[in-house]
Amino acid sequence: MYLPTIGLEIHIELNTKTKMFCGCKNDPNEATPNTNVCPVCLAHPGALPTINKQAVEGVIKLGLALGGTIPEHSQFDRKSYFYPDLPKGYQISQYEHPFVKGGKLHGINITRIHLEEDTGRLLHVDDNKSSLVDFNRAGVPLVELVTEPEIKSGEQAVAFAKELQLILRYLQIADADMEKGQMRIEANISISDADSKELGTKVEIKNLNSFKIVGDAIDYEIQRQEKVITAGEDVVQETRGWDEKKQTTKSQREKEEAHDYRYLPEPDLPPLNLTKSDLINVEDLKSEIPELPAQKRVRFPQEYNITPDQAALLVENPRAAQFFEEAVSEIKTEDVRGCCEHLFNYLTSDLYGLIKEQGITFDELKITPENFADLVALVQKGDLTSRMAKDLIPKMQETGDDPRTIMKAHGIQQIAREDIIQNAAEKVLQANKKAVEDYKNGKETALKFLIGKTMAELKGQGNPQIIEKVLTKTLKKSLIVAVKKK
Ligand SMILES: [Zn+2]
Repeated sequence: MYLPTIGLEIHIELNTKTKMFCGCKNDPNEATPNTNVCPVCLAHPGALPTINKQAVEGVIKLGLALGGTIPEHSQFDRKSYFYPDLPKGYQISQYEHPFVKGGKLHGINITRIHLEEDTGRLLHVDDNKSSLVDFNRAGVPLVELVTEPEIKSGEQAVAFAKELQLILRYLQIADADMEKGQMRIEANISISDADSKELGTKVEIKNLNSFKIVGDAIDYEIQRQEKVITAGEDVVQETRGWDEKKQTTKSQREKEEAHDYRYLPEPDLPPLNLTKSDLINVEDLKSEIPELPAQKRVRFPQEYNITPDQAALLVENPRAAQFFEEAVSEIKTEDVRGCCEHLFNYLTSDLYGLIKEQGITFDELKITPENFADLVALVQKGDLTSRMAKDLIPKMQETGDDPRTIMKAHGIQQIAREDIIQNAAEKVLQANKKAVEDYKNGKETALKFLIGKTMAELKGQGNPQIIEKVLTKTLKKSLIVAVKKK
């Protein structure tokens, strides 16, 4: 019996306006290479770095949100290594004195969170002889979060990373899109004998660029190491990568010895005491931290008429959660709790569907929370049928108008006249003798069936309450007649 031990190292690009140590624009979408560059991020001799306040505030907020402590002393260090995408020959990072120590998420302890700069990007040319370097990314603020080796499975690692991504988005300090490389995950994995207290040999897996790959690669690696040990061999300390085609991890390089990065305090930047800084006030930052997903998941079911699972679905998307709450606050009918369930249903089915279909984001919606609340209130009051509401949503997106204006413009009205409904109901009763018989024999579900048929007869525009009233009345009448005949 072997126990896996997993630690994560997660890098996240912050969405600050400018780069970490210069005034160049931080724009991950810039397509023209070497546009956002200057002497500082190109490492020209004599160019001096300055610290980006917004980036430091971002990492402090993350630290506070995760329950970490902000040490009195923090500083930047030079981490020396040579690579073509690193023009200085060293990266400005943090070593012994990071901005954040400790913290916890999903029961996993966090060792440290520090700030550093991203590298440039290499583009390999087809001639197999040359590579090009794009320095647009060089100097972009990069957060590195390191966990304690306490994770036990791929599933647990994925849950941790997903929640971290969500918190970053709620804090609005990073988009953390894994496909775009804005969030990159490395996992250190070892397995050890259940009875032994010693940890096994550590293998590092790099470049895990989706949550699915994080889970798959970790689970595969645990099994691979078990097989190696069961076969009486030793696990080799090395760096491995994920082979998506073969669904396996593969060796990239063996580590004979630890890198000597020759860390030294960055002489061009001052050490910082963030607890006593005039420029950054930790207490102010604490008050800027919004309600986090875990708190929302508890509050939503208490406050609104939705289940914990429904709340979790809303919280997954910060904009959806916000839209939902704004819409709830716009409901003007008395039955707010009754409307909440409708709101949730139309939001997560029809609005999500529309967003997906049109390939837009929540911010591009022309449907305002207020108009959406009006639509739901119209359904709740019985002025609109569910079918009509579903048809109105795309029209609301097209025009940006409120539902009543569209109903007027298109002559959309619910059929509430009893004589019209009576006609339809009688047609349905004639055509569905079996259901009528079932109802007479006490089968209540037959009534639901007949209501559905009558609604269809009215092309989805009948008032459901009146349909039910008319049907029950008519059925009861025929029941009395039937009894009399006997
Ligand atoms: Zn620059």
